[in-house]
Amino acid sequence: MKILRAFKTELDLNKVQQTICACHAGAARFAYNWGLARKIEAYQAGQKVPTAIDLHRELNVLKQGELAWMYAVSKCAPQEALRNLDQAYAHFFRRVKEKQAGKNVKVGFPRFKSKKNGLGSFRLTGAIHIFENAIQLPRLGRLRLKERGYLPTRGVHVLSATVSERARRWFVSVQVEMEIPDPQPAGKSAAGVDLGIVRLATVSDGGGIDNPRALKQGLTRIKRLQRQLSRRQTGSANGKKAALRLAKAHSRVVNIRKNALHQATSWLAKTKSAVVLEDLNVNGMLKNHHLAQAIADVGLYEFRRQMSYKGGWYGCEVLIADRFYPSSKRCSGCGQVKPALLLNEREYHCGYCGLVIDRDLNAAINLEQLLYA
Ligand SMILES: [Zn+2]
Repeated sequence: MKILRAFKTELDLNKVQQTICACHAGAARFAYNWGLARKIEAYQAGQKVPTAIDLHRELNVLKQGELAWMYAVSKCAPQEALRNLDQAYAHFFRRVKEKQAGKNVKVGFPRFKSKKNGLGSFRLTGAIHIFENAIQLPRLGRLRLKERGYLPTRGVHVLSATVSERARRWFVSVQVEMEIPDPQPAGKSAAGVDLGIVRLATVSDGGGIDNPRALKQGLTRIKRLQRQLSRRQTGSANGKKAALRLAKAHSRVVNIRKNALHQATSWLAKTKSAVVLEDLNVNGMLKNHHLAQAIADVGLYEFRRQMSYKGGWYGCEVLIADRFYPSSKRCSGCGQVKPALLLNEREYHCGYCGLVIDRDLNAAINLEQLLYA
């Protein structure tokens, strides 16, 4: 089976390479913002809104004059940024349609990109070669990788590479097409999976995955750094240092979380024939201040997203329970539903059949039982 997959890893750049990458990211951001302004302008003037192809043609003309500095970067960077802009427009129109159809979505018009959130990213296509410890990109040449052997060197067709910066570290994500063995659902069992705060995932067969301890430590550190930053004067040298420390701690927590989610979803997709997940109303839950952090941590959307595509790779069907299915309040022993369950009740006690069971396990079993309902 042929699949599309992305591999992301850190680059080990020297000062010159960092500058060139920053230039490319700058050109991509410029093209995106310029294109967005052109689209808005055309719309307001009642003209046809230009597409990425139109804009790229226009930009090439400008490059011969005022935008001559763009010759210093690969033509892919602005071109791909304009493609991203078209994508952002397409998503916007899709959300508008969903809203009109009565769905509860935020429409959100594409926004201008600012340097406030780092230097950004750029995508390159064309001749990309992967080596054990380096990647060769058009215009940038051979760039060293921090981790040896993570990127696939054989049996893959490389479609594109995206270089991005975060908290002064540079990363490359390569999009590849590769052949994997056809999924083998035989011999695997189905399970319900409860995603939670205490444990990352609880499985109905009694298994589960804990949240990494480093995540909690990372969060404590972020809170401390946030307090520190708030005491510093904005724009001062010490303020900037504190902001960078905070950004670094933040990106560390994001990585730990992502890693844990990837491990959990890979394991489930490989070992289960089907999983049933809860459909949490994340919008509603995020309003609850206390829960917000925890929900964000667990990354429910990310979990479900990974589960869906990995399910396809490994032959695991992913089912989402109805939003009103009372997976927490229902007794998995007798099916009685409690009118209410407090968040701090870690154990489920059933008043009808006397079952006493871990709260999350009860929910996971209820989810599994949906398969047989
Ligand atoms: Zn019961």
